[in-house]
Amino acid sequence: MTLKLCLLGSGSSGNCTFIGTGTTRILIDAGLSARKTAERLTEIGERAEEINAICVSHEHGDHIAGIRVLQKNHGIPVYANGGTLDAILRDSKQAGLECRRFTTGAPFAIGDLMIEPFSVPHDAYEPVGFVVRAGALSVGVVTDIGVVTGLVREKLRKCQAVVIEANHDETLLHEAARPWSLKQRIRGNQGHLSNRAAAALIAEIAGDGLQHLFLAHLSADCNSPHHARTAFETLLSGAGHTHVTVRLAGADGVSEQVILEG
Ligand SMILES: [Zn+2]
Ligand SMILES: [Zn+2]
Repeated sequence: MTLKLCLLGSGSSGNCTFIGTGTTRILIDAGLSARKTAERLTEIGERAEEINAICVSHEHGDHIAGIRVLQKNHGIPVYANGGTLDAILRDSKQAGLECRRFTTGAPFAIGDLMIEPFSVPHDAYEPVGFVVRAGALSVGVVTDIGVVTGLVREKLRKCQAVVIEANHDETLLHEAARPWSLKQRIRGNQGHLSNRAAAALIAEIAGDGLQHLFLAHLSADCNSPHHARTAFETLLSGAGHTHVTVRLAGADGVSEQVILEG
């Protein structure tokens, strides 16, 4: 069994993660345009027509912008929980979207993948993170969380690969020319994770089999690849976890691809 993982795009301009075995291929979120999503799938040797599902984490535009056109043009089923689905369908731009409903906390199968949606704290109706399993292999995808909870820790533990939000550097956010209210929203318990908070989480769980880490959802003006990478590598090496490969995902193109084998 192999599991391929690649971020097609990440950041406030659009988030989309590809995960696939030899027979089943899914996207976690589709926040890029449908055209860009299809182009980037081609770049990694995949085809939009062969995607079996889009699993939506929450209704914010940077996670759903492409879902309706991807479904219309390529016939891709969209999966969301009830709260997210209700919020999506209130938006007239999503009129006509057909969604299959999953229940937060209840694993469901798509082909040979098992998808586990779990609750995360964020300012959306029913936001979730996902663990995607294929046999003994597992990938955790958690972006857009305000604070690390015990459930997040428990779910990401033992994953071989993790996609984690590294949204902002706390000093850069403090100094940024942004309204105070927006800064408070970002750093609040329903907002986004700082490099430091995300790195502390990963340093805590990395001993349990983690091999590959993708840093995702970096803020364009309150973070930098250098700040994010330094925060993680410092904490991981300080905790003795030199076996973890840290990769960055950005808005401008696809990330490196990782193939898990097991
Ligand atoms: Zn969000
Ligand atoms: Zn987001």
